[in-house]
Amino acid sequence: AKSDPSAKCVRFRDRMRRLRDEHRAIKKDLERALQKNEFILYYQPIACTRTDKVVSGEALLRWQHPERGMVGPDDFIKIAEDAGLIDEIGTWVAEQVAHLQHRLHNLQYAVPLALNVSPRQLSDSSFLSLMQSLPLATGCDPSDISLEITESVILGDIPNARETLTALKHCGYQIVIDDFGTGYSNLAYLHNYPIDGIKIDRMFMEDIGTGGEIVKLILSLANALGAGVVAEGVETIEQRSWLSQNGCNRYQGYLYSRPVPEERFLSMLETQSQI
Ligand code: C2E
Ligand code: CA
Ligand code: CA
Ligand code: CA
Repeated sequence: AKSDPSAKCVRFRDRMRRLRDEHRAIKKDLERALQKNEFILYYQPIACTRTDKVVSGEALLRWQHPERGMVGPDDFIKIAEDAGLIDEIGTWVAEQVAHLQHRLHNLQYAVPLALNVSPRQLSDSSFLSLMQSLPLATGCDPSDISLEITESVILGDIPNARETLTALKHCGYQIVIDDFGTGYSNLAYLHNYPIDGIKIDRMFMEDIGTGGEIVKLILSLANALGAGVVAEGVETIEQRSWLSQNGCNRYQGYLYSRPVPEERFLSMLETQSQI
């Protein structure tokens, strides 16, 4: 039987309405989450491929939802961006990381921290003023804080991205390209941005199993740019050894540790400082 196009249209409209309602509900939920402090930062250690010591850590956002339990960022960041709530959430994240960096400094752990910055935040001038105010407000050292941004920021149409990044760089922050290799491979842009490091996306860890030619290319590119490199999504000992042998000194992934609560991250640092 031929399907009735008007019925199809109604079904589509229903689906759109349901999606919109769901979106609205999550937005309300997110606003409450901000008020009630339901967000929490986990930290994933970044380790040295040779010594296996923790050399830094990345802050990863979680939502302790009263009914749904622990919710990962992939399930709400996009909605928060669309709902215009990412600035407020991002402010909270940056403040937390700045405070922890100061605390680590006082504990004499020389371990820089990284945080994720959404493209939307870069086109918002209040983000720059926030970041400029943090060293004085929290005692943090911006040279020990990396701001991770995705390639889309550089390639895309984010207004003022380059100016903002340059200003952040001036302030002392480290600028790192996240998920490197997943955007368009127009490499010409790299020269025009103040880039301190890149993180090789975890999809390239598969490449290591088949010779790692692409990873080698990315490593030499980073080298030519004078940028530091972290390999992401390292899950096997073979991957870690390959990275170590090929001059990639830092790695992050389930092999070393999953993201852990702040106190657990601190106890990992404490244990390692005792040996
Ligand atoms: P990302 O920045 O690329 O972070 C790495 C993600 O890979 C994390 O997922 C981490 O848990 C996961 N991962 C780490 N090691 C492994 C591994 O060995 N294997 C596999 N399969 N996965 C691994 P998570 O925490 O769910 O975060 C997802 C994304 O959400 C992040 O990707 C980042 O883009 C975004 N995000 C996280 N926190 C924030 C935040 O505070 N602000 C913003 N704007 N985005 C955030
Ligand atoms: Ca990241
Ligand atoms: Ca990444
Ligand atoms: Ca990612």
